Amino acid sequence: MPARVIDGKALAAEIRDGIRLKVAARLRENRRAPGLAVVLVGSDPASKIYVRNKRLACKEAGFISHAFDMPTDTSQAALLELVDRLNADPAIDGILVQLPLPVHIRTETIIERIRPDKDVDGFHPYNVGRLAQRVPLLRPCTPYGIIKLLEKYGETFTGRHAVVVGASNIVGRPMALELLLAGATVSICHRFTPEADLEKLVRTADIVVVAVGKPRLIPGAWIKPGATVIDVGMNRLGAGNLVGDVDFESARQRAALITPVPGGVGPMTVAMLLSNTLMAVELHNN
Ligand code: NAP
Repeated sequence: MPARVIDGKALAAEIRDGIRLKVAARLRENRRAPGLAVVLVGSDPASKIYVRNKRLACKEAGFISHAFDMPTDTSQAALLELVDRLNADPAIDGILVQLPLPVHIRTETIIERIRPDKDVDGFHPYNVGRLAQRVPLLRPCTPYGIIKLLEKYGETFTGRHAVVVGASNIVGRPMALELLLAGATVSICHRFTPEADLEKLVRTADIVVVAVGKPRLIPGAWIKPGATVIDVGMNRLGAGNLVGDVDFESARQRAALITPVPGGVGPMTVAMLLSNTLMAVELHNN
C-alpha cells in the first residue's frame, strides 16, 4: 500500500491558528503583540520569497513585523550595528537575519551577535548548545517543525534508527540533535560519506530525513519497507517545478509515511518561527 502522505500545510495552519489566538489573548490582557525583525541583505530571489512569506505569516498571526531590507553591498559592520540596535530595542522580541548572506559577510559573526533570547531562528551557539545538552529553548525551526510533524503522525523514536542525510548547521546537525533528544538511534551522512555507505545506511533507516539540496538523490529502492521519509530538499527544476531530494513516487511505494515537496516540511518552518517568537516575547515577560 502506498505511504500515507504527511500534510505539513494542515499542521502548520493549526499551529498558526493557535498562535493567533494566544496573541489575541495577550492583547485583551493589555500586553503587547510580539515584534519580529526580519532582515534581508541583498536581492536573492529565493530569499525574497521566503522573507515575504515570513512577514505575511507574522501579520496574520497578529505580530508586528519590522522589515529591514538592505543592499547587497551592506558592510558587515553596518549589519552588526543594526543587530545591536535590534538587540537593545524592547519592542523587538525576535531577530531573523535571512540566510544566505552575501559572501563578504561572515554568517557566524552575525548569528553570534544576536541576543540568544531574541534568536528565533535558533541558530546561535547558545541555543544549539542547549539543544545538544537536552535543555532546548529556542530551537532551529526546520528540525523542530519536523519533530512536531512526526509527533502529530504518531511516530515513535525509541528503538528506531534515524538516518539524517546532510549535516548543515541549519538543518542536518540540529535535526540529528532533535532525533537524539527524542530517543532515536541516529546516524548522520554528509558530503564525505561514500555513496555505498549512504545507500547501506538509508536501507536500514526506520526514519530518514534528507536535507542536501540535490534533486532525487535518494531513490525509492533504498527506502526500507514501512519507513518514515522526511524530505527537506527544495530544488527548483526548469519550468518552476519544485522537487525534493527523494524520488517521491518510488519512495512512496515502500514507505509508510512520507512528506511531499512542496507542502511537507516547508510550511512547518514558518509556523515554528512564529512559535519561537511567541516564546521569546514570553521570555521577555512583557
Ligand atoms: P546546505 O547548507 O547546502 O547543506 C547541505 C548538506 O548536505 C551539507 O551538510 C553537505 O555536506 C551535505 N551533502 C552534500 N552532498 C551530499 C551527498 N552527496 N550526500 C550526503 N550529504 C551531502 O543546505 P541546507 O541549508 O541544509 O538545505 C538543504 C536542502 O533543504 C536545500 O534544498 C534547501 O533548499 C532545503 N531547505 C528547506 C527548508 C524548508 O523549510 N523546507 C529549510 C532549509 C533548507 P557538507 O556539510 O560536508 O558540505
